Formats: sequence, C-alpha cells, structure tokens
Amino acid sequence: KVRVRFAPSPTGPLHIGGVRTALFNYLFAKKNNGIFYVRIEDTDQTRFVPGAESYIFEALKWLGIEPDETIGKNEKFGPYRQSDRKHLYKEYALQLIHEGKAYYAFDTPDDLEALRKEAEANGTTFIYNHSIRETLKTSLNMEHDELEARLFNEDPYVIRFKTPVDETLIVNDIIRGEVKFNTSLLDDKVLFKSDGMPTYHLANIVDDHLQETSHVIRGEEWLPSLPLHYMLYRAFGWTAPEFAHLPLILKPVGNGKLSKRDGDKLGFPVFPLEWKSETGETASGYREKGYFPEAVVNFLALLGWNDGTDKEIYSLEELIESFDLSRVNKSGAKFDPEKNKWFNHQFLIHKEDKELAALFIPVLQEKGIEVTAEYAEKVIALVKERANFITDLYDLADFFFTAPTAYDAKALKNWKEDTADNLIRLSEVLNAIEDFSAKNVEKIVKDWITEKELPVGKIMQPFRISLVGEMKGPDVFEIAALLGKEETIKRIGKAVD
Ligand code: GLU
Repeated sequence: KVRVRFAPSPTGPLHIGGVRTALFNYLFAKKNNGIFYVRIEDTDQTRFVPGAESYIFEALKWLGIEPDETIGKNEKFGPYRQSDRKHLYKEYALQLIHEGKAYYAFDTPDDLEALRKEAEANGTTFIYNHSIRETLKTSLNMEHDELEARLFNEDPYVIRFKTPVDETLIVNDIIRGEVKFNTSLLDDKVLFKSDGMPTYHLANIVDDHLQETSHVIRGEEWLPSLPLHYMLYRAFGWTAPEFAHLPLILKPVGNGKLSKRDGDKLGFPVFPLEWKSETGETASGYREKGYFPEAVVNFLALLGWNDGTDKEIYSLEELIESFDLSRVNKSGAKFDPEKNKWFNHQFLIHKEDKELAALFIPVLQEKGIEVTAEYAEKVIALVKERANFITDLYDLADFFFTAPTAYDAKALKNWKEDTADNLIRLSEVLNAIEDFSAKNVEKIVKDWITEKELPVGKIMQPFRISLVGEMKGPDVFEIAALLGKEETIKRIGKAVD
C-alpha cells in the first residue's frame, strides 16, 4: 500500500521547491490509490519560526494538494507533529545504544570547538567519526561507573550513531538508480540532542517506520543523508521505504539552486503565498501576484518531470493520471518565471468569462468602478487574449470603464487639419446607424470610407484615439459597439473639441 508523506520543517515560509516535493508526493499517492500525509518536523527548536506551520497548511490548501492525514485530520498514525511525539524517540536511541550501534557523547560545545580549531591549525577538518570517537568523552571508552555517574548527574550528552567503518553501501533510488556511499567518509551523526529532542535523522526514520511510509520522495539536498538513513533502518532491523530524490530547481540565469535572492533580484516570488514574519520580514507570493493555483501546480509539476509527450497544460486530474516517478529527471530543472506567466495566461484564457468577471469585478470596485457582470464579461471576452493576470485586464480595458482624459501625444502629432473634420463626418455617419453591432458599424463605416474615397488610416486612427486615448485595445468596432452609440459619439465629440 502506497503511503507517502510531505515532512516540512516549520523554519520559515514554504519555498516553491518544498511545494514541488509536496506535489510529487501527492501525485504519486493519488496515482497509486495511496495515502498522502503531512508530518511537521519541528524537533529543531532553534529553527522554529512562528506562523510557518499554518503557512504550510494554507499554501497546500490554496494549491489543492490536501493531505489525507495530518494534524487534526484522520490521525490514524498521529500525532503528526514531531514535537507532540517527543516522548517516543528516546527509547529508540537507547535501543541502539544497548545494541552497541550508538553511544553517549559528553563533549561540550567548547570541547568540540577546540577540536575544530586544532584540526584547522593542522590544515585538516575535524570529523567526529571512528578515527577519533574512542579518544573523546564517549561511553565507548568510559568506565561503567563514570558513565552511570554522569547520567545520574544529568551531565549534558548527545547520542551519536556509531557509523560502521569502511563499508560500501549501495542504496537504490527510483530516480537515480544505485547510489554508492563509503561509510568512512561519514561522521557519527547526532541522533538525540542534549535538549531531550531527537535530531531530524532519528525522528524522521522512526516516524517513517511507525507511520508506515512506503516511499520517501524528497529533494536532492537530502541525498547526503541517505546513507545514514539507510544504516538506521538496518540498525533497527526495519525494512527501509523506497527512496526517490527529486532534482534541484535551478535559478533562471546562471548556475545553482534557486534561492529567495534570485526572486528578489528578478522580481518573481519563490513562495506560494505572501509571507509576513513576526519580526517584520516579508516575501511576495504567487497567490498575491495573481497566479491561479492550477497554473502554479502545472508549472511546478513540469520542474523535473514530463510525460514523454510535449503536452504542457494539465489539470490536477490529468497530472495524477499521467504522473510517473520513473519519468522524473536526475538533472536540475531550470526555473523560468517568464514561462510561468504563460502558464497563467493559458489557464486564464480557458476560464469562462463569467468566472473571470467574478474575479475582475472586485478589482474594478476597488477603483470605484461599478459595472454589471454582463458588461464585465463582454469586456473580458474582447481583451483576455492579451492578459496573463486578472489585473492585466484592467490595463488592457480601462477605457471601457472611463473615457480617456488625455490623448497619446504621438498620435496627436499626426492629427492633421482635416482630422477633426473627418471625425465630425464619422460621427454623423455613426449617429445614423440603427443596429450598432460591431459587424454592422464596421460595414457601414467601411462602405462610407470607400464610397467617399477617404484615407482609411486618417479615419480609423483618430477614431481609436477618441475612444481609447491611445493606440491600444481590441478591434475598434467592437469597442464602439460595446461602449454604445451614445458614448461613442460623445467621446468623438470630446476629442474634436
Ligand atoms: N524535514 C525535512 C525537510 O524539511 C524532511 C526531509 C525528508 O523528507 O526526509 O525537508
């Protein structure tokens, strides 16, 4: 039975890379009729950030990637927040000590700092591992009485994993195939800390076991932890889940991992939602920038995955249908903020005008503009082809709501002596039209131009300028028809004035 988890640490707003991890877990679970659950990994109290946990849930909810089980929902394997499970981890660390697979270490932070300095002075780096553990203040080289006394006195200690020496581990990764590690290059990682909390590594393995995780799907940055995790499963005698490490998300230009700074520099968000921390830090979000959640899901899904065709636009259901972990790439996926706008555009143009109007009307109201839904829909139908975002609609269509108060200077320069005359004649022609539909107005105006052998540009350009104020907008006859005869003639009159 497929059971996968998204296990974020609430150390700040959820990065778009984290969202992709959540999404791939979700898609994999749904594709395989499995369970997608969310576990909050908050055992590192020093990195805890207030508000981060609720941010994570709000972001997932906005995107429609909702967990089947989590805090407060189907808590079959609860609790789902590690700090609420903290009583549970120590016995596992002790079990490894009893079996000789882990040990107590009493070195103080100062001791470790001194060792680090010493190594540095010798031109090496200090690694806490087999080469040195027998000489440090550990239970491996301590008389039983001393150990008992230290524990009795509650001397601060950590529990470290006793990494086997010089063993080659071969671990399978669904995306990368066999990955090899030599244990001698690894340090003896802390499993349990002096503050009474497990480290990420211990808590993660214990919980993935107890919560029956079948597959661990996470970012490539966790690949270096894989040998330790593998050894921990083995040390406990548990079957390890299968692993899949997702490729990095790369910056749009240059090399390296996408970071918050790239977003700031190039002006795009790297977070799903806007973030405001208690200390006043802020970061922009896709939601507030006007992205549709479906578009964000779509572009994230294609960061490192494709279905082998050149299909690009997917609904969530289609993604579930097509998703396949074995089609995830090993190599990094470039983040393309410009392309992301295109995705939003695609979702925008495929929405019903009615739905768009419901989103657009509040934007208008904020500007003090009241129109009927019917009018808003007609405007939208004329301009949406050029919009990436709901707010673009206003920039494309402002003249449908307010008459121009100024006219484009360049256009006015072309305003020849006969322009006003031509416009006055045009408005007389318009005034006589009964059926003021775009088609009919176009026909009558064009026939009149032909008949009178008037220069087309000299009529049409000022006509548009009169209605719009500048050389933009959809077909001028569509504009006139929607504005209506009265308003059209009024605007021409004003321009001539
Ligand atoms: N808590 C880890 C994180 O913040 C989870 C890593 C994993 O999935 O094992 O990403």
